[in-house]
Amino acid sequence: MSQSANPIELDALIVGAGFSGLYQLHMLRNLRGLSVRVVEAGDSVGGTWYWNRYPGARCDSESHAYCYTFSPELTEEWDWSERYPGPEEILRYLNHVADRFELRPWLDLNRTVQSARFDETGHRWLVNCDDGNCYSARFLITAVGCLSTANIPAIEGLGDFSGRWYHTGQWPRNGVDLSGYRVAQVGTGSTGIQAAPVIAEAAAHLTVFQRTANYSVPARNCALTDEVRQQQKADAAVIQQVMHSNTNGHPWTINPQNALDTAADERHTIYEQSWATGGLKFRSVFADLLIDSKANDTAATFIRNKIREVVKDPTTADSLSNIDHPYGAKRPPIDTNYFETFNRDNVELVDLKKTPIVRIDSNGIQTSAGHHAVDIIVFATGFDAMTGSLLRMDIQGRQQTLADAWAAGPANYLGLQVAGFPNLFTITGPGSPSVLSNMPVSIEQHVEWITECIDYVLETGNTCIECTDEAMAGWVQHVNDVANATLLPTVKHSWYLGANVPGKPQVFMPYAGGLDRYRQACNEVAENDYEGFTLS
Ligand code: NAP
Repeated sequence: MSQSANPIELDALIVGAGFSGLYQLHMLRNLRGLSVRVVEAGDSVGGTWYWNRYPGARCDSESHAYCYTFSPELTEEWDWSERYPGPEEILRYLNHVADRFELRPWLDLNRTVQSARFDETGHRWLVNCDDGNCYSARFLITAVGCLSTANIPAIEGLGDFSGRWYHTGQWPRNGVDLSGYRVAQVGTGSTGIQAAPVIAEAAAHLTVFQRTANYSVPARNCALTDEVRQQQKADAAVIQQVMHSNTNGHPWTINPQNALDTAADERHTIYEQSWATGGLKFRSVFADLLIDSKANDTAATFIRNKIREVVKDPTTADSLSNIDHPYGAKRPPIDTNYFETFNRDNVELVDLKKTPIVRIDSNGIQTSAGHHAVDIIVFATGFDAMTGSLLRMDIQGRQQTLADAWAAGPANYLGLQVAGFPNLFTITGPGSPSVLSNMPVSIEQHVEWITECIDYVLETGNTCIECTDEAMAGWVQHVNDVANATLLPTVKHSWYLGANVPGKPQVFMPYAGGLDRYRQACNEVAENDYEGFTLS
């Protein structure tokens, strides 16, 4: 690795200026007085929301819970306009945070990390960027998000396509004019389910290519009235206490009642009520949905019936409701008029289970059943999740690269540190609750833990903290054990397992034991003088 002669000397370098990077910067610079900078590839703050501006993009967490909780003043002064915020509003919020906490001077924008190497002698990370700049930092903290590296499928002939194509996670900043065009959308995950209804309204024709049918529950988005906002602010302390103490980081707790202990009529009424309320809370309507397949069947059947009620064409309804996995075992989408969209005259579903894509040619997509001429292809095909953005930074630890260390899948301690990579912290890394929780709550927990850990290293006069191989092996085992106690790993094509990216090792990545249990584990490690870490 070549190095610039004059690296910028820092206590800590943070990579990424989304929710995680901004809060970590605030903690270490403003509250601890360390020298810190943030490297960010985009030309502004926002992280995931900077890149994901596809039609229909909207957060699935509710606005009053999808925000920081560390500053009561910030909570009090910020007004959300809708139940679920869109990218523009989240970007306004994060820009407000950057201004309010005077973070901008420490952001190095339009700069991408190309490589990072741990220097044994100085106990420092040497980080090279694409524009020739180099940093030397005691601590390296990745805040790169879990869903930031686009997964563009290697479909034969894409290079021959004469129209335009886009991935939803790299959507052009100024938008794409779809009006009057024939659009193909490949993918029906959370993104595709949000995008299709909005694309259908703009495009002349939309063809949705579905490989795996998916559940979805109505989001029931709405504008927030002043009254609702005032109530949310008045209740903020209680709401935040719930979010910080429960399993999922959302402003509700899981109903302790089991679906299988509930009479069929009452169960149906509860599902109907939850369907009417809408949102991710549907997943929490009974305690046994994600651990008992018979319980799960009751929710799955309810949603399949809803799909068949909504979708008028029986063949399309069959394809949409022919779902091959338990409800919630893949990330459950929520939607605004997704299934209703298939009743439009200008929308068609292609069921790739029946008629797979053969190739793309200059003017469209060829399946085993026929040719679909299109002008624009939208790939809503997801991400190289959780590890993709970490591995592309070419991180070299004491003896090997992170790519080599994780050749068989990610392994770390508490989702935060990898043996052989001292002073490297991964916010919302694999092995932490991250994507199974309300992200900002998980992020705050990680940032605060990392900050206190750095305090400890510095206060004890050390320069280096590194987890042990034994601690890491124990955590990996625990992550597997808690996942295997649920239905989540039973879905073999889930991105939670890395199965959506050809050649990626298949390891269940997020921590499924719950944010409350995870928080406790992290606290205990800290209280026991950072048990499982060595300091030097
Ligand atoms: P995803 O869940 O991985 O879905 C990708 C879709 O593309 C799936 O339907 C997949 O089919 C399909 N696909 C992939 N490769 C394909 C190929 N070669 N041919 C045909 N179809 C292909 O990705 P996503 O929808 O972008 O969502 C990823 C995650 O981002 C979500 O689970 C969620 O955590 C997050 N997200 C959050 C929000 C929010 O909060 N607002 C919104 C969007 C996304 P298979 O299922 O058969 O693989």
